[in-house]
Amino acid sequence: MSHDYDVIVLGQGLAGTAVAWQLRWRGERVLVIDREAEVTSSTVAAGLITPVTGQRLVVSWRFADFWSSALAFYRRVEAETQMPCFRETPMVRIVADQGEQAVLHQRLTTRDFSPLVRQPPSPALIDAHFQSDAAAFEMLTAGQLDVPTYLRTSRACFSQTGGYLATDVHLPDDVQLTADGVSLPRVGVTAQQLVFCQGIAATTNPWFHAVQFRPAKGEILTLRIPGLEESRVVHRGVWLASGTDGLYRCGATYEWQTLDTVPTAAGRVEIEQRLQRFLRCPYDVVDQQAAVRPIHRQQYPVIGRHPKFPALGYLNGLGSKGTLQAPALANELIRVMSGGDVFDPRCDLNRWTELRGCHP
Ligand SMILES: Cc1cc2nc3c(=O)[nH]c(=O)nc-3n(C[C@H](O)[C@H](O)[C@H](O)COP(=O)(O)OP(=O)(O)OC[C@H]3O[C@@H](n4cnc5c(N)ncnc54)[C@H](O)[C@@H]3O)c2cc1C
Repeated sequence: MSHDYDVIVLGQGLAGTAVAWQLRWRGERVLVIDREAEVTSSTVAAGLITPVTGQRLVVSWRFADFWSSALAFYRRVEAETQMPCFRETPMVRIVADQGEQAVLHQRLTTRDFSPLVRQPPSPALIDAHFQSDAAAFEMLTAGQLDVPTYLRTSRACFSQTGGYLATDVHLPDDVQLTADGVSLPRVGVTAQQLVFCQGIAATTNPWFHAVQFRPAKGEILTLRIPGLEESRVVHRGVWLASGTDGLYRCGATYEWQTLDTVPTAAGRVEIEQRLQRFLRCPYDVVDQQAAVRPIHRQQYPVIGRHPKFPALGYLNGLGSKGTLQAPALANELIRVMSGGDVFDPRCDLNRWTELRGCHP
């Protein structure tokens, strides 16, 4: 039977958008469906790609590999949409205390860390703007995606070729599994495969709800900082990043109990207290947002196709690193959907063995 599409991608966040582009570039007929919720993890994300994170100054998992995929991917999207959305930008990290200073000293001697950084930063942070009495280092291989622009222009491109639909898909009622694929009768489309890139909404997906999450709510502030001209992202406990609109964004908090999208006074206080440890300039808070990051219990992203229903695929759990990881993991998913193995067993959907009995 011939289908309307080769693949339907459910969800147009960072994950689904990357999957859709990678499929289109392979010549597949793709339909992306999204319910266009105002607040999602991707609409709130600052789009930062930070190579070194945490108090132990750890280089992000598979950074070199993910970085080269991401760079090539976003440049290709820019060429196709004729709209710039990604910038390579160094980031400055101010060392928090003596313990972190000692870690930095040790890390500068290691082969994974030292090529990624420069110490001290050049140029130095401007003294009148930042508390720069502590040591600092500069991460050279880093970047920032203008996520709203990327999502909006990608969506427009998909729409132009009949590859996008705005609707809320009700699971499981809207999806019928057929002998050779899937059918969504209410939407009026069929496809060989359906790939779920739903972010945190996947917790109620009847085919994949056995994949356990440990999601984290995050809050972020938008600031007006008159007189500040620092294009690099500056980190110290929180990050401060300039945007294309002349405003700055600052965040983010992590909270594991109240998983909603409501900005809180406590979130704002936490961010501002950390910011004031290194920013000397006066500022106004012009906006505050909150969303829930999709993080799986085992911290790694999860990729795969359903062991019992091979027309159904899954990519989720991008956590705080969707911008970096989505382009490469989208390729990985496509490989797995055509019968390949998942490259890293920690990311393999099949480790959630209960999934075998998981269907509506
Ligand atoms: C405050 C904050 C700051 C962050 N900053 C960064 C950062 O600087 N860098 C970075 O890399 N990451 C950052 N992140 C993390 C990043 O946002 C996530 O990694 C990423 O957004 C996950 O993308 P996703 O596509 O998996 O999920 P989502 O963004 O949640 O996308 C899922 C989409 O699926 C749609 N959907 C779900 N179910 C249905 C359905 N049944 N029918 C129709 N549509 C459906 C949703 O509406 C949504 O659009 C941040 C997150 C937060 C909260």
